[in-house]
Amino acid sequence: MSIAYRWIAGVLAINFIVDFQLHLLADESLDQLGIQATGNLKVSSNVVLRRAEQLFDTYDRTLSGINEVVGIRAGLSDLEIHRLLVRRHAITPSAHWILVAREDGQLAATSLSFPAPDLNISHREYYTAQADSWDAGLYIGPPLTDMWRAGRFVPTSRRITNDGGRFLGVAVAAVDPAGLANILSAQALPEGYMLRLFLRSGAALACLPDSDDCYTRDWSTTPLFSALLGRAAKGDVRGGALFGDESAFGAYTSSAEHPLVVTATVSESQVLAPWRQIARRYLAIGISSNLAIVLIAVFAYRQFQRRRKAVDALEEANIHLEERVASRTNELRLSEARARLFMNTATDAVVVFNQGRRIVEFNTAAERVFGYSAGEAVGRSLGILLPQSEAIEDIPVNRVTAEDESPILQTRELKAQSKDGREFFIEATVGCTENGDPALFVCVIRDISDRKATEEELRRVATTDALTGVLNRGAWTKRTEELIANARRYRRPLTLMSLDADKFKQINDTYGHPAGDLVLKALAKALNVRAGDIVGRLGGEEFGITLPETDAESAQEFAKRLLDQIRQCRVSDGEHTLSFTVSIGLTSLDCGGDDSLEAALKRADRALYLAKERGRDQFVRLDGDCVSPGAGP
Ligand code: GH3
Ligand code: MG
Ligand code: MG
Repeated sequence: MSIAYRWIAGVLAINFIVDFQLHLLADESLDQLGIQATGNLKVSSNVVLRRAEQLFDTYDRTLSGINEVVGIRAGLSDLEIHRLLVRRHAITPSAHWILVAREDGQLAATSLSFPAPDLNISHREYYTAQADSWDAGLYIGPPLTDMWRAGRFVPTSRRITNDGGRFLGVAVAAVDPAGLANILSAQALPEGYMLRLFLRSGAALACLPDSDDCYTRDWSTTPLFSALLGRAAKGDVRGGALFGDESAFGAYTSSAEHPLVVTATVSESQVLAPWRQIARRYLAIGISSNLAIVLIAVFAYRQFQRRRKAVDALEEANIHLEERVASRTNELRLSEARARLFMNTATDAVVVFNQGRRIVEFNTAAERVFGYSAGEAVGRSLGILLPQSEAIEDIPVNRVTAEDESPILQTRELKAQSKDGREFFIEATVGCTENGDPALFVCVIRDISDRKATEEELRRVATTDALTGVLNRGAWTKRTEELIANARRYRRPLTLMSLDADKFKQINDTYGHPAGDLVLKALAKALNVRAGDIVGRLGGEEFGITLPETDAESAQEFAKRLLDQIRQCRVSDGEHTLSFTVSIGLTSLDCGGDDSLEAALKRADRALYLAKERGRDQFVRLDGDCVSPGAGP
């Protein structure tokens, strides 16, 4: 069943429940009205019957009193009887008249006049009823027309007997129907209610409302007299059950002492009039509540449908979103895997760090280079990778912006330190993630120790004489120029020596070139005696020595010692042991006015030349124009 059908079924069910409840309420109020009306009817009929019984009891007592007087005191004159009747009449309410008839039916006396009219009532039912039955009690008969006064009366009679029980006559009293009608009207029932006083035979004695129909109608054939009275002395009935001709509520009561029956009825329309008004209200409530329920249901159904559509749309969006999230997650995972693969296959060490210069990522190459595992390094300061941890401040952590051409902040060479304390050179390139939050910095680190060593070696080769290991001419010149500039700036002494092996050609010629090389090596070694002095091979077997912080006198001392050392130096080529000497020309910078290296070197060369000329194995000092004698051999 679709939702709409279920919805309709629900609405119908609610409507049915509401209507059913309203119906129950209406029905209950209808029953209440019926019960209330029937209750009123019962009470009224009981009260009326009791009052009617009291009235007829009065008549019974009146007639019995007459019986006693007339029966016991036999032989009362008609006048005496008349007087008795007058007295009794006076105290009997609503009696038209009272009379006494003799045993032959002839009137003896009446309460109205004396003498009594000449009237025989032996044919009247109220007479025969007493004459024919010795224990009839009080007879109450159907209304009759008054013989003396126009109008109706209800006859009551009682037998007159003497002490021996002999029938002497009948005492009769005529009850004014108005008295009975007063009993009925005293109930002050609301309009529409009907009270009737009947004889058990069905003759109506009084009716409220009063109408001739009530007295002329034959009530004996109605259900009350034909059936109901036979079954129960009192009861309440519904509908036309009492008189068969009207739709009414009714109650009846019959007397046990007298042949009296009281009915009280009210038409259903009368009782139900207020209910009909309420019922109209119930109907209005029912219809409007049904309508309201339907409207609410329609509104709720539309809301429900809208919400369901929204939920469906949301679910669909969720599915899309989940798919997108899954695909994005997958992409991210792939990207991360790629990044990790890239990081870990990179031969360069990669260290990712944050603004606080704390390590966030540490790749495999970094583990290899620095000796830390990623687990040990992540979370610690970059300082653990540097020999001087304060150098960490030089590593930039400023963020790049979209305007910057490159994310690279810096490329520089640094000294790094591995876990075991080994120091080595690295080239570190630091870059920054653009717009990242938190900002991350990537440091790609290359171990440049080998390159540095090569560079150092190249530099060394470029500046060193391959055979002797001392500086070559270029390097010596450069270094000496620096020292000269320094000395000049700070007015410090400096001395230059020009040194040449004596008769070296001969050594070559005599012992061979390799032996000459050995001599040159030994000579260079002999020259490297003082820290801070700069020794360079200026060509062939010629050397230059720069003596910073050394004045001419000290230099002379040194030259002397040097000549001595060299003289004692011995070189073996495996076959021969060779000795050799050198000549030295020296000049101090503080001597002459021309202080350039070139000029000073020329002077030193001239001094050397002089030393050669003077016999070799000696030094000559030449200070500008001044020549001072060297220490000869
Ligand atoms: P003097 O005392 O006047 O200086 O005499 P000398 O023989 O030393 O003079 P000369 O300058 O004529 O000779 C230098 C020689 O040094 C010439 C050359 O064969 C030799 N020589 C130059 N360079 C080297 C070298 O690297 N190895 C060797 N074994 N000999 C060299
Ligand atoms: Mg020489
Ligand atoms: Mg030479």
